[in-house]
Amino acid sequence: MIQLETLHKISYGLYIVTSGDINEGNGFVSNTVFQVTSQPQRFAVCCNKDNYTASLIQQHKAFAVSILAQDASSELIGKFGYKSGREIDKMTDVKVIFRETNVPIVVDDSLAFLECKLVDVFDVGTHWIFIGELVCAEIIDEKSEPLTYAYYREVKKGFSPKNAPTYINQSKLETKTENVMSKKFKCAVCGYIYDEAEEKVKFSDLPEDWVCPVCGSEKSDFIEIS
Ligand code: FE
Repeated sequence: MIQLETLHKISYGLYIVTSGDINEGNGFVSNTVFQVTSQPQRFAVCCNKDNYTASLIQQHKAFAVSILAQDASSELIGKFGYKSGREIDKMTDVKVIFRETNVPIVVDDSLAFLECKLVDVFDVGTHWIFIGELVCAEIIDEKSEPLTYAYYREVKKGFSPKNAPTYINQSKLETKTENVMSKKFKCAVCGYIYDEAEEKVKFSDLPEDWVCPVCGSEKSDFIEIS
């Protein structure tokens, strides 16, 4: 028996893994970064073979891991998690620094980072597992809590707490509940579903600058599904 819910009981963090150099950098959101040995200090990162960053890691023989803070913005997560570096330059408008290997290290919304030299690669089918040896590790913000995947999912489901500007209009909400709100809208980028019945605000009443709470896409990227 395989009870799929079991897989959701495994805890993960959320990270931005980057590679490249000052001219060409890219990164992706990963929840599979873990330390594998302490002597030497080596880390594993699992990366889809189709991922643009995968080719950069192999080319530059190094990668960096930015440890996201719990209050990391959905725009940043959306940019690195749901968009391809082949289509957009993800490093635009993102603060990066350089240390030992010259790979760009994202410091926005991150509380610390690791930088590793690539020492091994394992082919696990759809993905590569990159093994890197630690060459630099720094804390950016002592006070922030690291973002966990569980927390991210809770926020995603909850939606309202963090990124819904309309949520502040409680009085508006109450009057709106009397209306029939049964439409659902799906984010074409990440698949997040905005359910009017659940959110108690009509999609059309959301301000134009409202963005997808999961990936930061614009309101115009949503498609009505019911
Ligand atoms: Fe989205």
